Amino acid sequence: MMVIRLFLLILFIPVLAIVLRRIGKTFRVQPIPSVPLKTVRDPVCQTFLDPSSPLVLSETANTPSGRVYFCSVQCQSEYHRLHQIPS
Ligand SMILES: [Zn+2]
Repeated sequence: MMVIRLFLLILFIPVLAIVLRRIGKTFRVQPIPSVPLKTVRDPVCQTFLDPSSPLVLSETANTPSGRVYFCSVQCQSEYHRLHQIPS
C-alpha cells in the first residue's frame, strides 16, 4: 500500500504543476498598455504642456527638434533672454 501511495504522490506532483500553470495563465493580469504622455515641458517654469496646444511656441530655439514650448509669453521672453535669442 505504501508503494502505491508513493507512486500516486509522484504522479500527482507534475499534474498539480500543470494545473497550477493553467490557472496562472488564466488569471494572469494583462499588462496595461502604456500610453505615451504627449507632454512637453516649459524649460523656464517646468510646467508640463500639451504640445498640440501650447500657449506659446518658439521655433527659433536651439534644440534638437527646433521647438521649445512655453506656458506664457513671460516664460518665452525669459528663455530668449537667458539664451540670448533675439525676440
Ligand atoms: Zn512657463
